[in-house]
Amino acid sequence: MPRRVPIERLRNIGIIAHIDAGKTTTTERILYYTGLIHRMGEVDEGTAFTDYMEQEKERGITITSAAVTCFWREHQINIIDTPGHVDFTAEVQRSLRVLDGAVVVFCGVAGVQPQSEAVWHHADRYGVPRIAYINKMDRVGANFARVLEQIQQRLGARPVAIQLPCGEGPSFAGVIDLISGQLYVFDPETYGARYTALPVPEEYQEQVRHYRERLVEAAAEVDDSILEAYVSGATPSPEDIRSALRVGTLRRQFVPICCGSSLRNIGVQLLLDAVVDYLPSPLDIGAVHGYSVDGPGETERLPTDDTPTSALCFKVLSDPYVGRLSFLRIYSGLLEQGQSLLNPAAKKQERLHKLLRMYANRREEITEAYAGDIIAIPGLRWTKTGDTLCDPHHPLVFEPILFSPPVINQAIEARSAADVDRLMEALQRLADEDPTFHYRADEETGQILISGVGELHLEILVERLQREFGIPVKVGRPYVSYRETITQTVRQEGRFVRSTQGGAYSHYGHVVLELSPGDRNSDITFENALTEPAIPPLFIPAIERAIRQAAAAGPVAGYPVVDVAVRLVGGSYREGESSEADYQAAATLAFREGVARARPVLLEPLMQVEVLTPEEALGDVLADLNMRRGRIESVQPQGPLHQIRASVPLAEMFGYVTQLRSLTQGRGSYTMLFSHYEPVPHKVTAGEKVLV
Ligand code: GDP
Ligand code: MG
Repeated sequence: MPRRVPIERLRNIGIIAHIDAGKTTTTERILYYTGLIHRMGEVDEGTAFTDYMEQEKERGITITSAAVTCFWREHQINIIDTPGHVDFTAEVQRSLRVLDGAVVVFCGVAGVQPQSEAVWHHADRYGVPRIAYINKMDRVGANFARVLEQIQQRLGARPVAIQLPCGEGPSFAGVIDLISGQLYVFDPETYGARYTALPVPEEYQEQVRHYRERLVEAAAEVDDSILEAYVSGATPSPEDIRSALRVGTLRRQFVPICCGSSLRNIGVQLLLDAVVDYLPSPLDIGAVHGYSVDGPGETERLPTDDTPTSALCFKVLSDPYVGRLSFLRIYSGLLEQGQSLLNPAAKKQERLHKLLRMYANRREEITEAYAGDIIAIPGLRWTKTGDTLCDPHHPLVFEPILFSPPVINQAIEARSAADVDRLMEALQRLADEDPTFHYRADEETGQILISGVGELHLEILVERLQREFGIPVKVGRPYVSYRETITQTVRQEGRFVRSTQGGAYSHYGHVVLELSPGDRNSDITFENALTEPAIPPLFIPAIERAIRQAAAAGPVAGYPVVDVAVRLVGGSYREGESSEADYQAAATLAFREGVARARPVLLEPLMQVEVLTPEEALGDVLADLNMRRGRIESVQPQGPLHQIRASVPLAEMFGYVTQLRSLTQGRGSYTMLFSHYEPVPHKVTAGEKVLV
């Protein structure tokens, strides 16, 4: 079956930016221009834009959706949503997993801002090729050359301008394409949909020569034939330059730079050209690695249609029209409507009743989809964000996406008793969408607890409950979610014995457990170390289950117990009297008492914190971090600022945003990621801190 768009003409991209740099405006323009081209001649271009935006608002779709498809120059571009906020770094990482290339938007005035910096480094880590777009060239104070310099100095990247602004600030009039040597001006009557190429004005010739020389140099580093042409004084063709720049971009040797003003409808189509010309197709990315499902061993999947099917679910949304909607990146093979795929993590087969392609203002049902593509599937029952789906005859799993554990808890209740059921339903939907959000109703107190990765994370979720779901709620103060572990090895017997009046036993369960401190992040490990069959093997799984449940329930101080190695070392059995439940009761008792005797300690979440501060405030910021029990790992100059890396207990980070702002007169910023759990120092445990 022929694919509609050949894989080399596919682009899976993310648009990433510091908040307010213009990601939303740019995305809207992209969707508008690509939609317009698609139905050229059908609409009056002048009114189309406003109509389009109105419709978009009414339906409240899809520019904020997980992935949306558009077409440009016979290429298919899938735009994957990337969140702009620091607290969602896990989300950023997740989207970086499934996109092949990225457009990084900078503000022509503000330049490289801390968040774009953080995301840039993530993108380096994941090896994502990038182009940059310097937006807002129309604003007073916009300065193209300065942003180029910042990209070089702060991000350590090599920017290669492929365009120049014609005028900066309010006089910004168009974009000069350095490769074709033309000035593009955009017709305001059609909201920039019509644009024309003109000769470059005389006064820009010198600047064009300067930047063009650097561009050709960069291309020559990649391609010898350009080098030869360059050396012999000939002019390499635009096609040759573009293909050399493409190679260098994919190798991440340099970053092509575009510019424009999305708000004034200047330059967006040229940015789309650059996406097509320089960002990779799935074919450029090549084979992806996975792991065999049963046992060790790696395996690979090539992005071709005749390789066994494999896909990764990178987002689950609750959609007002179809319910659960799962977004898949297909890494290899075909997906067909009606087909069943295996989800190895859930050990379930999922049937694909419907395949959907999401556009800006509509969705389309398709019957098949191919390697490299991104599509949405409604109604998958078992598949969670991060799960692999694959051909049942050729199973594999991709590296699971690692999510931060929920380190902050908060009590929540509906303002009106009538809303309780709706609240539970809404919480379930939010948890389906977001693997870092959890909730749980305490059966004893009836209280509902929500947990997430940060204060802001919970704040945004609570706001969504009120706005999107229309459920007014009351919340308590957020507090740290602690864990417990043990520091000594103990042996502990557990007996659950009940006898009837006649003297015969009616219940008999007896185990001996050995508990010892386990490795960090090992959670609970269980080993059956019985050397003789003191307990029938049939009961062993129930014993393990009971221990895990007892650990999760917080047997000592109410916090989950982790990092304990449990060995079953003894026990006994009475024919006709022992049941599964008796052994569960015995194991629960043994575990609880054992933990209490093994010198338990509290563990608290430690965060990896990166702070950027101006030099004047450096001393104060460091002193403040020290007071917060922070361990400073490094301090490095970064452009005009200093970057501090530190490890700080989460319990000490409440209200840090405000404090940092006041210490730095608003110029400081920080990011924070979960690192690990660590014992709470004694002097702190003794105080009130624990009950934050
Ligand atoms: P996001 O937070 O990155 O999604 O940024 P938005 O697209 O929401 O834009 C933030 C603000 O900047 C809005 O008020 C936009 O109207 C404005 N803006 C976006 N692009 C431009 C531009 O090219 N020029 C100017 N002057 N303002 C812009
Ligand atoms: Mg936005």
